Amino acid sequence: MDSRAIISVISGGPIWRLRETREWPNLEEDANRTGPGYAADTSPRTRVLVGAASFEAASVMAASASEHAPAEPAVAKDPDHLLDWPGLHARIVSCAACRLSDHRTQAVPGVGDHSADWLFVGEGPGAEEDLRGEPFVGQAGKLLDAMLASLGIARGDRVYIANAVKCRPPNNRTPEPDEIEACFPYLQRQIELIQPRVIVALGRPAAQALLKQEVRIGAARGQAFRFGEIPVVVTYHPAYLLRNPADKGKAWADLCFAKKTLESSPPKAVAAG
Ligand code: SF4
Repeated sequence: MDSRAIISVISGGPIWRLRETREWPNLEEDANRTGPGYAADTSPRTRVLVGAASFEAASVMAASASEHAPAEPAVAKDPDHLLDWPGLHARIVSCAACRLSDHRTQAVPGVGDHSADWLFVGEGPGAEEDLRGEPFVGQAGKLLDAMLASLGIARGDRVYIANAVKCRPPNNRTPEPDEIEACFPYLQRQIELIQPRVIVALGRPAAQALLKQEVRIGAARGQAFRFGEIPVVVTYHPAYLLRNPADKGKAWADLCFAKKTLESSPPKAVAAG
């Protein structure tokens, strides 16, 4: 399939013509929000994760950041914090470390290939995801599936899909920084287990959760960020693309950049268990 045909597939409509421009409009709201864990930018093109250096440290930080943290946070107190997949799943579905546990139907840990090359990280579960326990199952999920197909991958095959927060924010609001911080140890552990070759951050909250810095998607596109040694590429959230279909061409360009980044990254040294 050539690129024009692929753009047509993910657009679900007219073929989008790729444009190269650095004058993308800033359509993100609340651009100047800062909060715990959002460190200053240190380099114009390559950023390294700052903040919590380990799952345990992040857990302690998350617990202190959460208004609703229990007196003795289970994650921080657990001596065996290097959880395997079943342990991590069990921990997430029983988590009450932030206020988002108050109204959820269920937590939504993530779905996909445990040794994936690709990791896509969204913002948080929506209403349908909250009911079904799987990320990206609504209209935005259909668009994400089309985006994956354009890359020659599929849900469960070489890709893992997760969110910055595992529980649905009320009324689908944007997760608060302290909620993202409280949930970060789970995302971090997922990344440690998967060891993806590239991470695609879908939208601003996901990018900020991973990069620990203020991010504006329009300015961050096309740059190679890093989560430790793993490259991170930033693009628009599929829900945003549904509201702003004119930007689907930009998203396709971002996916092409992510694919190139993956192909230039070293093969996985260790298979995740
Ligand atoms: S959003 Fe994350 S930290 Fe908050 S209750 Fe759910 S699993 Fe726990």
